Amino acid sequence: SFYDEAMEIKRRQDQEILDDIQNAFDDDQFVIYLQPQVNHRTQEIVGTEALVRWLHPKKGLLAPGEFIPLLESRGMISMLDKHVWKLACRQLRKWKDEGKEHLSISVNISTKDFYYEDLYEVFTGLIEEYQISEKNLKLEITESAFAIDEVKQIETVEKLQKAGFVIEMDDFGSGYSSLNTLKNTPVDVIKMDMAFMSGKDIYKRGADILQMVVSMAQRLNMPIIAEGVETLEQAEFLSEIGCDIIQGYFYQKPCSVEEFEAILDKYEKEGNTIQTK
Ligand code: C2E
Ligand code: CA
Ligand code: CA
Repeated sequence: SFYDEAMEIKRRQDQEILDDIQNAFDDDQFVIYLQPQVNHRTQEIVGTEALVRWLHPKKGLLAPGEFIPLLESRGMISMLDKHVWKLACRQLRKWKDEGKEHLSISVNISTKDFYYEDLYEVFTGLIEEYQISEKNLKLEITESAFAIDEVKQIETVEKLQKAGFVIEMDDFGSGYSSLNTLKNTPVDVIKMDMAFMSGKDIYKRGADILQMVVSMAQRLNMPIIAEGVETLEQAEFLSEIGCDIIQGYFYQKPCSVEEFEAILDKYEKEGNTIQTK
């Protein structure tokens, strides 16, 4: 009966979220937070990732883990994703108008989006609508999306790549078939999650594995970004083994667009030194 009760609570929570969704779109409650990607060697901000947040009027700031799995299971994720991509494009357009065309934003694509949308049409349409460069809108696709060996999926990705979009393989190393996937799929950038490494692992097997992944990326001539970097120790180690681009709490937690722009301003004024937290 405890189990039934837990199920019932979960069911009710899910229903609450679903009830609130339409309002959330209508009232612009979904926003993007940005997290910088920093070159640890030069201290330059080289890119950012857009991560969705729900500014819920009653529940406060909700992280994606609290609503994305539900939207995915109900076939509603592409509605949200398209909204997020639009917000990212709008931001890129604003930066373009301000002369900051060097800034790029990476957006997340759910595996489910491939089923519900013609992603080639959607992304080329957005570029057209906002008059921005496809180089500035980077597309993150989780590694496991490729593992399903979907011919159609790979075709779509190839078309996007030919159109000039940069494709990033998200969560590399967390799935089952990384190497195989890498062999068979057209991606431009590898994003490697540090989550599997606790601080001390750096001196053990984890370190060797990371080193191998980084040299493999170099060999394939693919840029590699380390995600989830929380300590100076990790950043230094990664830089030493040839992975300079770092995204993680060590430099900056994902923050509102306003905060991000303030960081950029400060950063430019102070001559390219980002303040670490
Ligand atoms: P992800 O794409 O792997 O994004 C990175 C996640 O790691 C983010 O969580 C980020 O806040 C977190 N993170 C960044 N640096 C650190 C760090 O140093 N330490 C730790 N422990 N975590 C760090 P967030 O924002 O909660 O997003 C979770 C996931 O939700 C994302 O994982 C992504 O898969 C998904 N997501 C976020 N936004 C969207 C979206 O617009 N559409 C879709 N389909 N999925 C999204
Ligand atoms: Ca991502
Ligand atoms: Ca990731």
